[in-house]
Amino acid sequence: MQTPIVTAATPPARFTDDALWAAVKAEAQRQEAQLELIASENHTSREVMAAMGTVLTNKYAEGYPGKRYYGGCEHVDVVEDIARDRAKQLFKAAHANVQAHSGTQANIGALMALAKPHDRVLAMSLDHGGHLSHGHPKNFSGVFYEFASYGVEQHDERLDMNRVREKALEFKPAVIMAGASAYSRMIDFAAFGAIAKEVGAKLLVDQAHIAGLVAGGCHASPVPHADVVTMTTHKTLRGPRGGMIVCNDENIAKSINSAIFPGGQGGPFMHVIAAKAIALREALAPEFSVYARQVVKNAAALAETLAARGLRIVSGGTDNHLMLVDVTPMKLTGKDAENLLHAVDLTCNKNLIPYDQNPPTKASGVRLGTAAITTRGLRENHMRTLGNWIADVLSQPANASVAERVKKEVAELARAFPIYT
Ligand SMILES: *Cc1c(COP(=O)(O)O)cnc(C)c1O
Repeated sequence: MQTPIVTAATPPARFTDDALWAAVKAEAQRQEAQLELIASENHTSREVMAAMGTVLTNKYAEGYPGKRYYGGCEHVDVVEDIARDRAKQLFKAAHANVQAHSGTQANIGALMALAKPHDRVLAMSLDHGGHLSHGHPKNFSGVFYEFASYGVEQHDERLDMNRVREKALEFKPAVIMAGASAYSRMIDFAAFGAIAKEVGAKLLVDQAHIAGLVAGGCHASPVPHADVVTMTTHKTLRGPRGGMIVCNDENIAKSINSAIFPGGQGGPFMHVIAAKAIALREALAPEFSVYARQVVKNAAALAETLAARGLRIVSGGTDNHLMLVDVTPMKLTGKDAENLLHAVDLTCNKNLIPYDQNPPTKASGVRLGTAAITTRGLRENHMRTLGNWIADVLSQPANASVAERVKKEVAELARAFPIYT
């Protein structure tokens, strides 16, 4: 090309903002050096990141393709149409909205479309693995709707669909929400769909965590059973940070579009929508199913190793990409465990376990996920090594030489499986 057109993450001739770029560089080095076990994180492709560094960030495009409130949208219309078409194809849905800036904003749009303020909504308890946007009193959801919750049973730490049905019959919600942030078992979307029909509620499935597993064929899809399906694009789906909504009913699709814009947002992030389109193309490729299957196999292998070493896996195991590890058998709190693991460059988060005796600031568990470490190439044999490291560190918290050894071994493994370098 004679005259290069600046479209993208073409690095500028000179980076001038030293303080800022030093922090970005340090974060890149941190991601390379540590093993990322936070279940909601992943490492996107370079092409996804490149899209976010393009001129598309300059464009205002309020509205939808063909119906914009600004001129000059002919090219971003193409971008958004590609993203919507791929979302529909991937999730086998008739309609898609790709504008939500985040998973929470996708839920704002979906709830606004399905219910009036103060309507009743039944969702999974936050203490049992639900999400802030499913009725936390300080979140928009808890402020504007009347929430009640269902949870897992104490004896097996799983959802019992008969109990969910009883709650729904009793509470008579306008909307039932399904989906979670910290639940390691398959969710029976068909049963949720049947309950919603029986009680005359709309079913909103939030597949934020498992979108990539659904895309890869490792979890049954909620789309045939739900009125609306929301998701994040940055967790197992491995795209840019953002939200997305799919549904099959044309009238609901119209309500969602107007609930997202102008309901909850102004102009869409066209650079992020471009990145979503790229991630969706990646997820449509056959290799993505291989990836999703490996994520699930890795989680099972990690959970098995941890259980064999005396840690308790909530509900006895995992069907998806994550697990809740009860660390009380090691006489630790979740907060202790998070800190001990962080000290050896294993990043995770403390998490409440069902019926937790500790407050959320301490918690009794940690949540571990395999989406990110699978992206960088780790397999089942590495999971067994990793599980043993975690157990070594947590079973001897006062032993500095154990921590020192594990930290060195983590660094070696991370170096052997670079993400971008
Ligand atoms: C992560 C998550 C979200 C929200 O995602 P943000 O993009 O952080 O707003 C919504 N619902 C569930 C179930 C989640 O796990």
